[in-house]
Amino acid sequence: MKENIDIDWGNLPFGYYPTDYNVRCYFRNGKWGELEVSSSEYIPIHMAATALHYGQEAFEGLKAYRGKDDKVRLFRWEENAKRMQHSANGILMAPPPKELFEKAIKKAVKLNARFVPPYGTGASLYLRPLLFGSGPQVGVKPATEYMFMVFVTPVGPYFKEGFKPVSIELVRDFDRAAPLGTGHIKVGGNYAAGMYPSQRAHADGFASVLFLDALEKKYIDEAGPANFFGIKDGTYITPQSKSILPSITNMSLEQIAKDIGLKVERRRVAIEELETFEEAGACGTAAIISSIGNIYDRSTGKTITYGDKPGAYSTKLYTTLRAIQQGEIEDTHNWTTVLEGI
Ligand SMILES: *Cc1c(COP(=O)(O)O)cnc(C)c1O
Repeated sequence: MKENIDIDWGNLPFGYYPTDYNVRCYFRNGKWGELEVSSSEYIPIHMAATALHYGQEAFEGLKAYRGKDDKVRLFRWEENAKRMQHSANGILMAPPPKELFEKAIKKAVKLNARFVPPYGTGASLYLRPLLFGSGPQVGVKPATEYMFMVFVTPVGPYFKEGFKPVSIELVRDFDRAAPLGTGHIKVGGNYAAGMYPSQRAHADGFASVLFLDALEKKYIDEAGPANFFGIKDGTYITPQSKSILPSITNMSLEQIAKDIGLKVERRRVAIEELETFEEAGACGTAAIISSIGNIYDRSTGKTITYGDKPGAYSTKLYTTLRAIQQGEIEDTHNWTTVLEGI
C-alpha cells in the first residue's frame, strides 16, 4: 500500500497528473484477452497501427466523485460503455463488452484510490477509457488487433472562480463534423478537425467555439467539445442533429429540467433563435455546465449577450446534478454506482 499523497486538490488544473496504475486489454485472434495492470505511462505500439495512420481511435470520459458520505461514486458509467460500443462499431473496431468496460473502470479507480480527491475540494478523478486499432495495416482497412485501456487522473474544479459565464465564438468557416460523418461518435478525428478553430477562438479571447450545421450553416450544432442548450419561456431547448455527440450530461440535464418543471425540446435551433434565449450554456462531463455570457459571431462581428451572471435555471440544473454526483441529495434516477471498499 502506498502512502497518502499531498496534492493541492483545489488548485489542480484540468490536465494530466500521473497516477500509479492503468489497465489494458488486447483484442487478438477474434477475442478479448485478460485485463492487465500496468504501472507504465507508455504503450508499445506497432508503427503501422491503424490508429496512427487512419484514425481508428475512440475514447470516453467520466468521473469518480468522493461524496459527502465519503463514498466514491461513478456517474452513469453504463452510458459511457454503450457509447464506446457505438463509437467502435462506427469505425469498425472491436467493441469492448460492457462487462470488460465495467471491470476496467472499477479496477482503474480502485488501484488509484489514493488519487480520488477528497469531498469538498471541487476536484474529482477523471477516467479516460481508450480504444484503438493497434494491429498493423498499410492498406486502408480495419486492424485485426485492438487495445482497450483505462487510465485515470485527478482533475481540479473546472471553474476556480466559481460558476461564471464564458464568452464563445460562433464560426462559419470551419465544421467539426460532416452531416453524415462521425460527429455522433466519440472518435479522435472529430477533435482533430476542431482544433484549428478552437485554438483560434482562444487566441481571439474566447473560451470555446460554437459550430453550425455543416450542410446549411443555419442551425446550431455543438459548442466545441460540449453540447449546447438554451432556455426560454420555461423550456430547455437543445439542438437535434446527426453530427452531435450525444452527451450524457445533456441527457441528464434534460431529465432534471423535467423534474424541476421545465419543458424539454430537442429540435433544430436556428442561429436567429439564439438572441431569444434567456439563458444559454454548454454541457459535458468536465464542467457539467459552462454558462454562456456572450456569443460573438466571428463573420458578422455581432454579439449576443446573456449577462455576466448564470441564469437561475442553469444554476439550479448545475447544482442539482452536482449534488447527485457528490451524494448530497437523493439519486432518484439511480444514476450513480457506489464503488465499495475504497
Ligand atoms: C464527450 C463530448 C461531449 C460531452 O459528453 P458527456 O457525456 O456529457 O461528457 C459533448 N460533445 C462532444 C463532441 C464530446 O466529444
